[in-house]
Amino acid sequence: TIGLLALDESGNLAGACTTSGMAYKLHGRVGDSPIIGAGLFVDNEVGAACATGVGEAVIRIAGSAIVVELMRNGMSPNDACKEAVNRIINKHKDLTNMQVGFIALNKFGETGGYSVYEGFNYAQYDKNSNQMIDAEFDRN
Ligand code: ASP
Repeated sequence: TIGLLALDESGNLAGACTTSGMAYKLHGRVGDSPIIGAGLFVDNEVGAACATGVGEAVIRIAGSAIVVELMRNGMSPNDACKEAVNRIINKHKDLTNMQVGFIALNKFGETGGYSVYEGFNYAQYDKNSNQMIDAEFDRN
């Protein structure tokens, strides 16, 4: 998945995502990316979030909507992504190949990202800098 979240000068949020889906997917499978609330969610009053990885796991927890809801309740983008990842971890006994990552951006321009496994990174651009950030993760 390629996910993009943006906040403009007027304070408006936007998001988009695109995906090729999972390798060897079943014909007709619908992943998380085209489902608003799963692979992507934007609430202009709160924040925006996007997911990548095993879509079935993301759909099961309404991942991106949950991240935004947690931010609405006061969590930082990073903590909200971490909580969503923890929900996925707690729902699966076997986490083999269960990589999922979330990125989030709130109304104040704060960002965060978190993944099940090490190796998820995201690019961040703001007025002064352009950088690659290694997301925090639960396990190696
Ligand atoms: N989330 C996508 C899917 O499950 C896979 C990806 O990360 O591109 O369809």
